[in-house]
Amino acid sequence: MKVAALSGGVGGAKLAEGLARAGAELTVIANTGDDFEHLGLSISPDIDSLVYALAGLADRERGWGRADESWSFMAALGALGGETWFNLGDADLAMHVIRSQRLAAGEPLSAVTAAILHRLGVAAKVVPATDQRLRTLVETETGPLAFQHYFVRERTAPRVTGFTFEGAGTARPAPGALEALREAERIVICPSNPYISIDPILAVAGYRDAVRDAVCVSPIIGGKAVKGPAAKMMEELGLKPSSAAVARHYRGLIRTLVIDEADAHEAAAVEAEGVRAVVVPTLMAGPEDAERLARIVLEA
Ligand code: GDP
Ligand code: CA
Repeated sequence: MKVAALSGGVGGAKLAEGLARAGAELTVIANTGDDFEHLGLSISPDIDSLVYALAGLADRERGWGRADESWSFMAALGALGGETWFNLGDADLAMHVIRSQRLAAGEPLSAVTAAILHRLGVAAKVVPATDQRLRTLVETETGPLAFQHYFVRERTAPRVTGFTFEGAGTARPAPGALEALREAERIVICPSNPYISIDPILAVAGYRDAVRDAVCVSPIIGGKAVKGPAAKMMEELGLKPSSAAVARHYRGLIRTLVIDEADAHEAAAVEAEGVRAVVVPTLMAGPEDAERLARIVLEA
């Protein structure tokens, strides 16, 4: 089945791996609002989470980066007085160096990503939301923060008041993204953070019109995010952290929301938003769980 999925990093990548294992002919449209330049390198954290997951290289325990990683570079960098708030593993560093080099030579991010996937023997496609610059700014009570400063340096502590997606007004979907959505027999919104992983993609002109009748897996289980600030953000934005809030957020884009058994009591509230609720276990502790959940998404 031809599947196009919108995804952020880690939560989305788990389902993307499941979809690939379930035999989907998969194109993942990846958030690039988290991308940034650091230590002279071009870093695309969500693309990398997807690439590592699909290539079977991801570190499942840590939840980001590569398995069997070593950290000599960070130690040496710290000893020389360099910035160490953003961790870059030794093997991971190779990804950022290759990407930076090819971007500097004028290749678009989509082509660089495709070449890396090909090199790693991954059949699924990962298409950046856009080849142009897109940068999420997190508006907080103490002022706006660049995404990685909010997420990593400040550890998501500041209270969020809103988001700005710099560049979204002039950015265009990367080659292949809208085609994949048009040709898809199933459009999926991964269990990614709605505000900082999916909304930056949807802010680029063309995506909102191309996403229809999608199936989404809720990132909220039992009123909490499995990982990260999604539930905290909902509270700070004046919403009750819940799958019903996810359904409301994606109204008009999704036909079905897959919610966890722990939230079976929310099914009626989800359906009140005009969205069908499918209640199943949605925690992906490993690739088998992810594949099982992916099959439900494909059959929904
Ligand atoms: P990031 O870009 O690395 O922050 O990753 P995403 O935005 O793609 O994923 C973060 C979201 O994934 C969080 O809101 C989590 O609640 C959600 N998430 C992580 N693991 C799981 C899981 O196993 N099941 C479900 N349903 N959600 C998950
Ligand atoms: Ca991310």
